[in-house]
Amino acid sequence: MKVLKIDHLGIAVHSIEEAKKLFQDTLGLKFEGSETVAEQKVTTAFFPVGDSEVELLESTASDGPIAKYLEKRGEGIQHIAFRVENIEEALTELKEKGIKLIDEKPRLGAGGAKIAFLHPKSTHGVLIEISERED
Ligand code: ZN
Repeated sequence: MKVLKIDHLGIAVHSIEEAKKLFQDTLGLKFEGSETVAEQKVTTAFFPVGDSEVELLESTASDGPIAKYLEKRGEGIQHIAFRVENIEEALTELKEKGIKLIDEKPRLGAGGAKIAFLHPKSTHGVLIEISERED
């Protein structure tokens, strides 16, 4: 498999509106728009930084994965996403190497990316997302 770059850092926040004040107004990053991924019960907002992006994650429901994360650990970095050349190939290879996968098959993430999560038990406690997308 080929990892191309750190695609984005996913940061769980209580409110994107509130967190925008830091990332947009204070740090001066460009707000690229937000998108709700209904299946994941999350609204995401992207702020490009060089070749990577910051992704803010706000829950849309109290039983969603981000709501649960915030409840347990509070706001903070929730996942790191690596851009890969070919996600199907990467998942097959990771599985062969004994990495526990949360997603056996890619699913659709924000911005039309194909994404899959690896289990933190296999990755030193870091929730890793792999993603494949054009651009
Ligand atoms: Zn992500």
